[in-house]
Amino acid sequence: GGLLDRLKLDAKGIRLEKPIVHAVNGVSLSIAQGEIMALVGESGCGKSTVAKTIARIYEPTKGKIRIDGKDIANFGFAQMLPVRARMQMIFQDPYASLNPRQRVRDIVAEPLLEQTKIAQERAAVPEKIARLLARVGLNAEHAGRYPHQFSGGQRQRIGIARALSVTPGLIIADEPVSALDVSIQAQILNLMKDLRDEFGLAYLFISHDLSVVHHIADKVGVMYLGFMVENAPRDVLFARPRHPYTRALLSAAPSVKAKRDIEEIVLTGEVPSALDLPSGCCFRTRCPFAWKKCAQERPQLQDVGDGQSVACHLIDAPERDTR
Ligand code: SF4
Ligand code: MG
Repeated sequence: GGLLDRLKLDAKGIRLEKPIVHAVNGVSLSIAQGEIMALVGESGCGKSTVAKTIARIYEPTKGKIRIDGKDIANFGFAQMLPVRARMQMIFQDPYASLNPRQRVRDIVAEPLLEQTKIAQERAAVPEKIARLLARVGLNAEHAGRYPHQFSGGQRQRIGIARALSVTPGLIIADEPVSALDVSIQAQILNLMKDLRDEFGLAYLFISHDLSVVHHIADKVGVMYLGFMVENAPRDVLFARPRHPYTRALLSAAPSVKAKRDIEEIVLTGEVPSALDLPSGCCFRTRCPFAWKKCAQERPQLQDVGDGQSVACHLIDAPERDTR
């Protein structure tokens, strides 16, 4: 026991007071135990905001964040303490998130010590830390060193050991391999997958890199300008992307594209400001298919079968999909 049964984020209309550019609208997702869900999109699309809102680093003004069936959206500090043991974060830059003056053993032990005040349990911490370090590919000798004595990949292993220390159900990973060399990326991704299999962990995996997402995710949500525009099991999304934005992202990803022949949709124009959203479809200012209806009506996510949902008027007007 002790693992996550079900996490549900139904954060319809999350809008952060300040800065308001972090607005996320109508994003709804759920992650089951043992599942890896990726959120993809260009920088500024709101994927980190979703992650930080679930972790309660940002405050939602509306919506629900249900973990183990409990809505934690309005939990206070004391109520959040046990929740934080169920949900840990891993960051893009492990160096920035590790205290440079702390030894690795203290860094890894910190979330665990926050959770337990019982002397007997605290006495067992050093041995647990040694086991965790070994599990993520470090050794007992590393425990006494400082973060600057490690490579980027090793630092991410330290971050993972720290997250694992409290036996979480969900790990929220925000661009965890983006700062690493490609060869090291694969090692860290494989470690994360192995840990998922071993502990039944769920991940919310934030990335802008579609080849990374293809490697690790079971299902994928595509975000644009604070909206979820498409959501599907990985293989469905990569084989049959339906939203024009997803299709453009895939056609611009060489490693993914090489696997099959994907139509060319080249994005033009800039991402509009989240402060000044286009009327109707948020993507219409860059969409090659946009027509009048797209300016008048905001498309809602609709189920198109096989677990795939798409927010686009083309679903009801396939004759306009001319590519
Ligand atoms: Fe393009 Fe219209 Fe679909 Fe938006 S709703 S993605 S503008 S076709
Ligand atoms: Mg980000």
